[in-house]
Amino acid sequence: MVQKIVLGAACVCCAAFAAFGVAPLEIAVRGQPAAYAIVISEKASPVEKYAAEELQSFLEQVTGVKLPVASDAAPLPAKAILLGETRYSLALLGCGFDPKTLGSDGFRLAACPPHLVAYGSAKRGALYAAYEILETYAGCRWYASWHSVIPKKSGVCVPANLDDVQTPAFAMRQPYWYDINGHRDLAARLRVNGFNCTRGDVDEKYGGDTFRFGGGLGSCHTFNRLLPPSIYFDKHPEYFSLVKGKRRKDRTQLCLTNPDVLRIVTSNVLARIRKDPGAKFYGVSQNDWYNYCECEKCAAIDAEEESHAGTMVRFVNAIAEAVEKEFPDAVIETLAYQYTRKPPKKTRLRRNVVPCLCSIECDFTRPIPESPYAEDKAFMKDICGWKTQTDQLYLWDYVTEFQDFTLPFPNVYALKGNLQFFHDNNVKEMFAEGAQLGRHAEFAELKGWLLAKLMWNPELDVKPLIDDFFAGYYGKAAPFIREYFEEMHRRQAEWSANPNNPLRIWTSAAFRSLNDEFVEWAKPLWKKAVDAVKDDPALSYNARMSEFSFDFLRLERMNPKPMRKVVLFASSPENDARIAEVKALTQSLLDRMTEAKDISLSESRARHDALVAGWKAYVSPSTNAAVNAIESQLAVLEERYLSLSRPGQWGAFVDDPKAADGKALKLFNTHFEWCTSFPMGKVAFKPGAKYKLRARVRVEKTRDGGEAFWAGVYDSVAKKGAGGITPRTDAIKDAEYAWYDICTWTPRADGREYFWIGPGRFGADGKSSIKAIHIDKIELSLVPRTLRTEKE
Ligand SMILES: [Zn+2]
Repeated sequence: MVQKIVLGAACVCCAAFAAFGVAPLEIAVRGQPAAYAIVISEKASPVEKYAAEELQSFLEQVTGVKLPVASDAAPLPAKAILLGETRYSLALLGCGFDPKTLGSDGFRLAACPPHLVAYGSAKRGALYAAYEILETYAGCRWYASWHSVIPKKSGVCVPANLDDVQTPAFAMRQPYWYDINGHRDLAARLRVNGFNCTRGDVDEKYGGDTFRFGGGLGSCHTFNRLLPPSIYFDKHPEYFSLVKGKRRKDRTQLCLTNPDVLRIVTSNVLARIRKDPGAKFYGVSQNDWYNYCECEKCAAIDAEEESHAGTMVRFVNAIAEAVEKEFPDAVIETLAYQYTRKPPKKTRLRRNVVPCLCSIECDFTRPIPESPYAEDKAFMKDICGWKTQTDQLYLWDYVTEFQDFTLPFPNVYALKGNLQFFHDNNVKEMFAEGAQLGRHAEFAELKGWLLAKLMWNPELDVKPLIDDFFAGYYGKAAPFIREYFEEMHRRQAEWSANPNNPLRIWTSAAFRSLNDEFVEWAKPLWKKAVDAVKDDPALSYNARMSEFSFDFLRLERMNPKPMRKVVLFASSPENDARIAEVKALTQSLLDRMTEAKDISLSESRARHDALVAGWKAYVSPSTNAAVNAIESQLAVLEERYLSLSRPGQWGAFVDDPKAADGKALKLFNTHFEWCTSFPMGKVAFKPGAKYKLRARVRVEKTRDGGEAFWAGVYDSVAKKGAGGITPRTDAIKDAEYAWYDICTWTPRADGREYFWIGPGRFGADGKSSIKAIHIDKIELSLVPRTLRTEKE
C-alpha cells in the first residue's frame, strides 16, 4: 500500500516550518545566489539526468534561481539536493533503510540537514522524487499539456524534519486519455508509466517501456492476428467457432479445443516473441465480439468449468507452457472480457499468464461495491475469483462515454472507490480507458489528472484534489463550473440509486438523469463561468472547451437524437426562434472544434463524421440537400439518407454515372422486400399541411408485363399505407432515370410514418421482371406548391 509519512508540516511557507522550531531547508531563495546544488550520480541514468533538468528548470521558473547540477564524482557540496542513486544518498539516509522496498517507482524524500535526499531508483523513482518536490513544496501543477500552473515564489523550502516515503498503489498506471497519451512529459509529471505502447519507443528518460505489449500483437483481441480466417478458414473451417451449428468466418473466434489451432497459434506466438523479445506482455485474446465456439468439445469444457473462460484459460495455459521454456520472463496476457469474464471453476492460471479483467458491463455512477446494479455485483464475484488465481491482475476499466465522448458522463465520484476496490483485489496493472481519440471529452482533463493522482494513491481525498484542479484550471470560472459539476453528479447519483438506471459506457446522462430543467438551471452558470475568465485567454479556453459538453447536451435535448429533424419545413415564430438557437449553438460547437483542432466526438469514426456532417449541414442548409427546406419549402434527400436492410444482399450504395450526383442506392432483384426506408419523424412538417413525396428512380428491366418496383408511405400506427405506387415495367423506359410521384398526404403530427421502396414483386413464374432499380434521391414538397420539373 501507499506509504506517505510526512513528518513535519506539509506547508510551502518557510515561516510556517520555522515556527516548529527547526529551521527549514531553503533550497532556493529569490534574489540570492544558488546555495544548493542538484547532485546526481556520475553514472546517472537518462531518467536521473532528466529528473535533474526538470527540477532545475522548474525551480528556476518558480524562484528565478538556477541551481547547478553536479556529479557525485566531486566532493559533496555544502548544500545538496541528492537526486536518485548518488554515492552519498544511502549513507545520509542511515541504516535500516532498504532501497529495494521502493521498487522501480517509489522514492524517499528526506531532509538530512543541510542536505535534501531525494532518493529514488534510477528507473523512475528519481524522477518522481523531483516532481514531489516541485508539486508539494514549490506548488507546481501540470493539469494538461497546454495548461500548467508554475507559481512565482519568494523561495522554496522543505521542513527540516521531512521524511516522506511513497510507493505507488499500482505497478502500472495508465489513465488512457488523449492528452496524457500524446504527451510523455505530461505523463511523466503525473507519474503515469504505462503507455499501452506496442512500438517500444518510450524514451529512456521517462523510464522506457516497462509494460510493453510485444510481437506486433497489440494489447487485446489478437485471435484474428494469430490465426487469420482470411488465410485459414476456407481450407480449415474447423479451426473457427461453431455457432448455431455453423463454422463462422466473419466475426469469429477460435475453436480452442482443436489441437491444430493450439499448434499453429503457439508457433505463431513463439515466432513473434523471437522477432521481438524483451516486451513484458504478449497478447493471446478473444476478438472483440461474442461467437465463442459451441462445438461438442468446447462446450463440454465450458460446462465443466461453468464459464467460457474454461476453454480460454486451458488454451492460453498451454501456449504459456510452451513459451516458458524459451522465454521464462515473457507474460502471456489474455482477456477476461464479456463471455470469459467469469473465472473457470477448476483450471488455474499458469504463473506466466495474466488475465486482463474488463469492467465493461458495470454501472459507473458510484464505486462498483456500492452500486445496486446487478452487473456490478456479478463483477465483484468475478474479480474475487480471479484474484485468488494470480498476484498480477491487469484491470481494464472504462471512464468515459464511448458513443459520445463529449456528452456528460458523471462518473468522477466513482473513480477513487473503484481504484481502492481494484487495489484491494490484487490488481497490479491499472488501465483506465478514457477518450483516447481527441481532447476535451467531457471533463477529460480533470478525469485524466485525477486518475493519475489516484492510481498513485487511491487513499487521497478526492475533494481537495478536485478543488485544486478547478482552481488551477478554471481560475475565476471555477465556482460556477463546480456548481454545475456537483449538481450533475448529484442528479446522476439520485437517478442511479435505482438498480435499473445504471450509468453504462454507452448511455449518456443526456436523456436520463439530466433533463430540460437541469439545462435551464445550468445555462446561466456557464454564462457566468465563461464571462468570469473572458479576459484571460488560457482560462477562457479551458472554460469554453469544458462548456462544449454542456452545449452538446443542450443541442441533443433541443433536437433529440442528433439532427433527427434533417428536413425542416415548419415555420412559426416559435419554431424559427428554436431553429435560430439550434443553428447558433451548432455553429459555436463547430467553431470550438476548429479552434481546438482535435476534438473527437465518438469512439466510432462513422458517428463522429455523421455528427459533424449533420452539424455542418444544419448551419449551412444551402450546401446540403437534406436540410434545404427551411426557406424553400422543398427538400431533396439524397439516397445516403435512406436506410438499407441487409446491405450487400438486398442492395448496395453504388456509384452511378447516370445519377445526378453520381451516386445511387441500388436494389437487387434477389428479393422484393421493403428494404429501404426513411422515417418521417426526421422531417419537421408544418402541422396540418399537405405534402408530396416523389422519387427519382431508374429501372433496369428484363421484361415487360411485371412489377418494376413498389413504393409508398406507411403509417405505423394505423398500420396502413398513406399512399403508394406500383409501376409496371411496360410503362418504363429501360435504364433511364425518371421522377415518380409516390404519395401526397397530410403527415401525422407524431412522425410515426415512413417512406419505403422495394424491387418489384416476382411474376407468376417466381421470377423478377427487373435486373435492378437505382434510387438517386427523394423529394418532399409542400402542396400546393407547383413543382418545378428537374431538367434531366
Ligand atoms: Zn470448438
